[in-house]
Amino acid sequence: MVKRTRQYGTSSIRIDGDQRPLKRSRKGRNVGKLTMLLAMPMDILFEIFAHLHPLDLLHVARTSKGLRRILLAPSSTSVWKDSLSADADLPECPLDLSYPGWAHLVYDPFCHRCSVARVKNPDWKLRVRLCTPCSKRELHVYFPWSFGAVPIPDLLPHRDIKETRSIYVRTHMINMTSRWKAFKQDQDARVNFFTERRNIVRQIDEHASKCEAWARKKALDRIEYQDTLRLARRAAIIQKLRDAGYSAELETMTADDWTSFDRLKPVAQKRALTDRESIIQFIMSRKRKQPQHVS
Ligand SMILES: [Zn+2]
Repeated sequence: MVKRTRQYGTSSIRIDGDQRPLKRSRKGRNVGKLTMLLAMPMDILFEIFAHLHPLDLLHVARTSKGLRRILLAPSSTSVWKDSLSADADLPECPLDLSYPGWAHLVYDPFCHRCSVARVKNPDWKLRVRLCTPCSKRELHVYFPWSFGAVPIPDLLPHRDIKETRSIYVRTHMINMTSRWKAFKQDQDARVNFFTERRNIVRQIDEHASKCEAWARKKALDRIEYQDTLRLARRAAIIQKLRDAGYSAELETMTADDWTSFDRLKPVAQKRALTDRESIIQFIMSRKRKQPQHVS
């Protein structure tokens, strides 16, 4: 079996290997400051980088050629590993991806093609994060017999939608077809390639299941965290009202009043209450307009 090694590259600012320029502007006042990092001793630079979030590392790598060269070099592997290890539940970086490529798939929230639209979740099996318009261009439905003599279902990860239909990334399919046909008469090389690819596809499928479970857990954790914030904010608002002398009014509130209270925009927000928010005036102004609520 052919030994696979991680891919490293320094030629593309996109990290994911796509050569098209990113449409989002990378310029800003901080870019100049960041390039000053290059003047620092390498060991200190690596120490700083290792403490950054993977998405921040990606941003740093995109700010200048020098920083990109450093961060995409194999010598920076430990930096990426340390950064990614901050989330102990995140599945390991798969062998067929580089660490920057893995960080890009997991954490970069923008569409991999247009780099403009935000996309909540990547497709862990197809290893792409695409917005709806780009999905329509890039993802195609194929039947097993669509590929002629090329065994694409064994060579490429795909998402089954019906018994006889699966979704593939169109460009991946075209590239793989070219690679397969390039073997021509070399049957031994073709068989080795087939075996290797089939193993990779199996590993990608297994890894994708772990990633989907991780993403589900992250989403639940986020909901739980937001609920905690909302409840803490509600309690803080009630305490503020008590401190302002409205305890008696709070005691006489009915269940419907509390339902209305909980629906008030400042109460329902999922963030901590700050001292600068004029909650009391807002709630009291609502009380004057709607005497049946919060009264
Ligand atoms: Zn897009």
